[in-house]
Amino acid sequence: MGLVVQKYGGSSVADAEGIKRVAKRIVEAKKNGHQVVVVVSAMGDTTDELIDLAEQVSPMPAGREFDMLLTAGERISMALLAMAIKNLGHEAQSFTGSQAGVITDSVHNKARIIDVTPGRIRDSVDEGNIAIVAGFQGVSQDKKDITTLGRGGSDTTAVALAAALDAEVCEIYTDVDGVFTADPRVVKKARKIDWIAFEDMLELAASGSKVLLHRCVEYARRYNIPIHVRSSFSGLQGTWVSSEPIEQGDKKVEQAIISGVAHDTSEAKVTVVGVPDKPGEAATIFRAISDAEINIDMIVQNVSAASTGLTDISFTLPKTEGRKAIDALERAKTAIGFDSLRYDDQIGKISLVGAGMKTNPGVTASFFEALSDAGVNIELISTSEIRISVVTRADDVPDAVRAVHSAFGLDSDSDEAVVYGGTGR
Ligand code: ADP
Ligand code: ASP
Ligand code: MG
Repeated sequence: MGLVVQKYGGSSVADAEGIKRVAKRIVEAKKNGHQVVVVVSAMGDTTDELIDLAEQVSPMPAGREFDMLLTAGERISMALLAMAIKNLGHEAQSFTGSQAGVITDSVHNKARIIDVTPGRIRDSVDEGNIAIVAGFQGVSQDKKDITTLGRGGSDTTAVALAAALDAEVCEIYTDVDGVFTADPRVVKKARKIDWIAFEDMLELAASGSKVLLHRCVEYARRYNIPIHVRSSFSGLQGTWVSSEPIEQGDKKVEQAIISGVAHDTSEAKVTVVGVPDKPGEAATIFRAISDAEINIDMIVQNVSAASTGLTDISFTLPKTEGRKAIDALERAKTAIGFDSLRYDDQIGKISLVGAGMKTNPGVTASFFEALSDAGVNIELISTSEIRISVVTRADDVPDAVRAVHSAFGLDSDSDEAVVYGGTGR
């Protein structure tokens, strides 16, 4: 039997009982003959609490010291988990991201993994230990500073280690039974998906289904690492995310036409009002944004008012980057020559994802009809080959998600989706 990487999210190790429960599960995998490498997140809402604390001493915490602070959360859980495993009579060693060989670029708070050199982890498991690695962190290649990978980054740590260690599978343990057709906290009738292709999962993750992080799925696809998303609270089979359909009985699971509905209320909308309608304006705006290292999502440019020769450009971005974006645009005001800026953080995004969209023109119309029947007004629209997204008022999101989920026949008629833990924060 080969090596498995198991990742346990914050809700699975929220308290001492959770840590002991997870320790038992890890020991079972070891007893079954696997070499086991575990990636662990900070306990419960520890990361949010550390951020709140930092904001009390500094208005916009960022950079080196902020990363140093946040990585403390995972250090606590990794040491406690190793202790709990030892208490069950098995050998375990904990490692920080840096000790585990997670090498990143030097962009603090959202570093990218550029290499993984897990020599110490390999030695530790070869000596018979269970290796516990702190998720969400690494060390920068050039400055040797401690970095973090962005919120939810432990998923990426797990897949990156699985790839570097040539693991059989990467198991992501969380507080729901797998990937569902919508967030079970919003849609009680969401249905568990048995298998989903990397492509569809990438779109769901990018559209806000935080059960798996987008970068983690990207990494898994690049190295073809199958992911098994499952609950640490139940013994059920979860969701397989891979390139090829899994077998069920003697049949292959079929690719769904519609994979699911995702939502995201973590973004804000910036509108640059009164931009001269001439070549080079969009370039200047988005150069200023990119120089500030801000990733944007949707962009819409309105039709120019013929009388004034002016147009408005709106785009969405993570709320956490809002202040930075406004500052960057204000600094570039003379170069761009706009009238004013508008900032709106009361927006939400709803996305429908499915490979069937490529060949089924009716999908778009049904999506808009469902929103209209629910009385939801659409502010922005964007599409890819297998996704349609709209921006609405944040308050409309839960109703809109449920309406679209029902309209596409995704509601399950059996068990309600179970949420075992976590605060959804
Ligand atoms: P962890 O602490 O284990 O990393 P997260 O809170 O990051 O857990 O992710 C699990 C949560 O993702 C679930 O509790 C659920 O509310 C949310 N979620 C959003 N979309 C989906 C989906 N399509 N399927 C399952 N869970 C989803
Ligand atoms: N603890 C970090 C967070 O809350 C990383 C993770 O849980 O994946 O974002
Ligand atoms: Mg997560």
